[in-house]
Amino acid sequence: MSCLFCRIVAGDIPSTKVYEDDDVVAFEDIHPQAPMHVLVVPRAHVATVNDLGADHDRLVGVMVRRAAAIARERGYDSRGFRTVFNCNADAGQTVFHLHLHVLGGRPLAWPPG
Ligand code: AMP
Ligand code: ZN
Repeated sequence: MSCLFCRIVAGDIPSTKVYEDDDVVAFEDIHPQAPMHVLVVPRAHVATVNDLGADHDRLVGVMVRRAAAIARERGYDSRGFRTVFNCNADAGQTVFHLHLHVLGGRPLAWPPG
């Protein structure tokens, strides 16, 4: 299995997991860009947002709602946080297993760089 996040999901590569269920695993980003920087990752391998089909609609909802739950647990719900799916080169995607970045704990600039 060559995919980094498939290996993290399987537990073959260590991570600091903050949540897991039958659909998703969430863990701390190894290079945090904000005081909260968690990745919400589906257990199933999906490379990019371009590869999502209608059969993934429930999964995407689970991912987004889990991101909100993690932000709420950390007290960032009312002050705000950011959720990001990077897709392919122009967005800087480096790991080709779908992941939702959950960033918070500092003001986040807009537009992004
Ligand atoms: P992206 O650029 O959207 O593909 O984001 C990939 C993210 O995965 C980056 O924020 C990396 O810091 C993060 N990352 C890479 N390797 C690991 C790892 N072993 N454990 C946790 N996060 C990682
Ligand atoms: Zn994978």
